[in-house]
Parts: sequence; C-alpha cells; structure tokens
Amino acid sequence: MRVIAALAVLLFSLLPATAQPAAPMPVVASFSVIADFLKVIGGDRVQIETLVPPGGDAHVFAPSPQDARKLGAARLVFVNGLKFEGWIDRLVKSSGTKATIITVTKGIKPLMETERGSPESDPHAWHAVPNAKIYVTNIRDGLIAANPDGREAYAAAAKSYLEKLDALDAEVRQALAAIPQERRRIITTHDALGYLAATYGLTVMAPLGISTDSEPSAQDVAKIIRQIRQDKVPAVFLENVSDPRLIQRIAAESGAKVGGTLYSDGLSPADGPAGTYIDMVRHNIRELTAALAR
Ligand SMILES: [Zn+2]
Repeated sequence: MRVIAALAVLLFSLLPATAQPAAPMPVVASFSVIADFLKVIGGDRVQIETLVPPGGDAHVFAPSPQDARKLGAARLVFVNGLKFEGWIDRLVKSSGTKATIITVTKGIKPLMETERGSPESDPHAWHAVPNAKIYVTNIRDGLIAANPDGREAYAAAAKSYLEKLDALDAEVRQALAAIPQERRRIITTHDALGYLAATYGLTVMAPLGISTDSEPSAQDVAKIIRQIRQDKVPAVFLENVSDPRLIQRIAAESGAKVGGTLYSDGLSPADGPAGTYIDMVRHNIRELTAALAR
C-alpha cells in the first residue's frame, strides 16, 4: 500500500508542467510604444497593462493608485528609461512590486541635449528605427529570461518583426532622401525628434527642450521665430501631446506653414492614424515629406 502511494506521488510529480495551460504572464509597459512591441513579441503569452495611455504625455504623467496595483501584479515592468518616466522610481517603491524592471533603451547611445544649462540625455530614442530594434531585442531577452518556456515563440516573433523594422528603416531613408537638403528643417513644440533628425539627416528646433514640463520664455519663442526667418524653415509641426496654440502662434508670426500633427511621444488610440509603432513612423514620415518636399 505504501509502495502504491509513493508511486502515485512519483507519477504525479512527473506530469509535465505544460499539461496545465499556462496563464499569460502579467507585464507592464510604461507607455504605448513599448506596449506595441510587447504585444508583437509576447503575443498571447503575456497580459499587458500600459501606464501612460495612447495620446498621453509621459513627461507630466501622474500615476494613480490603480497604476501602483498594475505594478504590484506584474512579473516584468518595461520602461523607456533616460528619465522619460520621471515618476517611475517613486511608483515602483510605493507599489511594493517584486517585478523585474527592464530598461528597453539599454545599449542605446543617448543623444545629449543642454537643458537649463546642464547636459541631459534625450529620452525619445524610439524615433530612430535602428534604436527601435534595440528596444525589441531587450524586450525579447527580458521575456525569455522570465519565461524560458516561451523562448522559441519570443525569438521567432522578434526575428520576423526585426525584419519588418529593417524594411521600415529603408522606407524612411528613401522617403526622406527625396527632400531637398535646404528644406530639411522643421520646428516642433518640444525637442522630441532629435534621434529622427540625427539618424535621417534633418534639423529639428523646438521652443521647448526635451520635456513638456515647462513653458517657453518670450525670448525662446522670439529666437525660434528669428531662426525660422533666417534659415527659411519651411514648416512647423504640431504634436499629439502638446497644446497647438504655441506652434500656431509661431507659424502666424514667422510665416512658416503648419505641417500637420506628429506623434512625438506615443501612439494614437488603436483606431487612429498611429495605432502601432510602424504606423506611427509611417504617419510622421508622410506628414514630414508632404510639408517639406517641393
Ligand atoms: Zn517628449
């Protein structure tokens, strides 16, 4: 009798873990671009919660108690880093989460900007498609480390998506190459497109710095207007996260045209023009080329 019981215990312990359907792994994305990459790479193996919603502004985001609960339930928390989410450390602490925090910009060489007299890293690294590939690689590796059973699925999804990003990068280079050199100058509300500019050969200026958490001074605005006239900047652009009035005023006073709305700091809702990362890049490039090409 004792032998049979021991045998039963042994047999039970030998049942493969995969016999029970695995529940999706709870993960948190700090904002919509990371959530989109997680959806592509994690598929139905992950349950994604997003902190800053599509259309939201991470620079001035105020986390709620519900956001702390999302962190508390998560196995992994994916953040952009480079101080994009200035509120994340306090949120992690207050949530008491045991989740692993993964910084998806790890390995990216940050662009440095001078902010209020001191050097700061520009957090908007995803606007260069080669950087987005690093985001995806870090997300893949984070998922595999936490859930090795999913290794093949994560690796296959990442491989196919990285190929799509290579094609997207080529598409962006080709589209922007058609813009005459002297017209590759734009103005946006805040300095969010530095990586796009550095990677693809544009000049971007902004009355605000790399964050939206301040108001530009009258001198900042006057300087931009002078610059637009002097450099014959063809177009100024609105942003999905910024009040359009500043850019409209700059356009009216400088004579530059308003070139449309760029998705500077995240995606649109799913039914909008920039519901995925790839659609966002295509939307922004369409707006840029439409306003700058002759
Ligand atoms: Zn920004």
